[in-house]
Amino acid sequence: EKSYNIYIGHNLETTIIDFFKAQKYSQKALIITDTNIAPLYADSVKDLLTKAGFNAKIAIIPAGEQSKSLSVAETLYTQAIEHGLDRKSPIIALGGGVVGDLAGFIAATFMRGVPFIQMPTSLLAQVDSSVGGKVAVNHALGKNLIGAFYQPQAVFMDLEMMKTLPTREISTGLGEVIKYGFIYDHNFYTYLTEHQQEILQLKPEALIHIIARSCEIKADVVSKDECEAGLRAILNFGHTLGHAIEKETNYAVYNHGEAVAIGMVGASKLSFKLGLISQDVVDKMCQLLANMNLPLKAKNCNAQKIYQDIFHDKKTVNGKVNWVLLEDIGKVCIKKDVPEKLVKETILEIL
Ligand code: NAD
Ligand code: ZN
Repeated sequence: EKSYNIYIGHNLETTIIDFFKAQKYSQKALIITDTNIAPLYADSVKDLLTKAGFNAKIAIIPAGEQSKSLSVAETLYTQAIEHGLDRKSPIIALGGGVVGDLAGFIAATFMRGVPFIQMPTSLLAQVDSSVGGKVAVNHALGKNLIGAFYQPQAVFMDLEMMKTLPTREISTGLGEVIKYGFIYDHNFYTYLTEHQQEILQLKPEALIHIIARSCEIKADVVSKDECEAGLRAILNFGHTLGHAIEKETNYAVYNHGEAVAIGMVGASKLSFKLGLISQDVVDKMCQLLANMNLPLKAKNCNAQKIYQDIFHDKKTVNGKVNWVLLEDIGKVCIKKDVPEKLVKETILEIL
């Protein structure tokens, strides 16, 4: 697998210009962004590309998960063709996970694949969706059902952009950040507990550390298992219940990181019930999530439906749920045969 650089920091302008100048790309480029981000950042990114010698077109999609669809993809292919892109034209994703997944899907499929550059603007996109190479659009019958594995050629994370991100979206990203500590790195967990204030205040040093460490952990896990055979499954910690909660609330009440937070509380409680961890670890999970303004329980969900949804999760194979459970802070295991009774008890405790 070809490697690529992830640049994290402030004032990345020169780095970005130099990167584009150094590539052997065609002159036409497409910047894909959404209606919230375009007025804030699209012109300055276009200016950087102009300075690097490119003729870039800005394509703006409506903000929101609805845009991750084949019909929106089609409008983007049209714009790419009309602007005159060819096989060596770069496509730049400037936005959160929605833009990144959609633009990556376009880049993977347009002319059987064109150069793809990620400029993630949400914390979730920086710590999660822009790393690992999964790109996708949704189908009316399910999320992320149509997609590919497609790596970017570079990722640029400009931390200045965090300043305009709504605080709720910061917490969303922190849900996944906390996940990395619990599944992989006790020291990182400790860092998060000791720097909560700096993180919530978006202090540059703390932001750089949590983003860099999250990317490292995800890249480490993914590089050992790019196509999700085994290890990559640990990234799904908190997601089995989280996805069910998102679905039962029609993706309208909790955003992804919030649902994952509740799912991690559930997975911790289940680990405790199975005797894998002490109550103290469950409490530490709840404490850190609460301090980062994340929910611990889901309102207005039906326990029976949550239980059924678990078996319809994309990652459930042959009716067997692969539970990612905690053995300690920083260590997980995967269990297939968890007693129904314990799962049902756990669900009731997170509603
Ligand atoms: P998003 O892209 O919808 O962004 C959240 C909101 O913040 C949007 O309204 C967006 O316009 C706004 N926004 C983003 N950056 C901003 C900024 N700097 N200033 C002001 N507003 C800004 O959602 P998200 O949480 O970034 O990503 C969620 C998506 O990511 C989902 O579709 C999910 O499936 C996907 N995802 C993919 C992977 C993967 O591995 N590919 C992993 C996790 C999540
Ligand atoms: Zn997630």
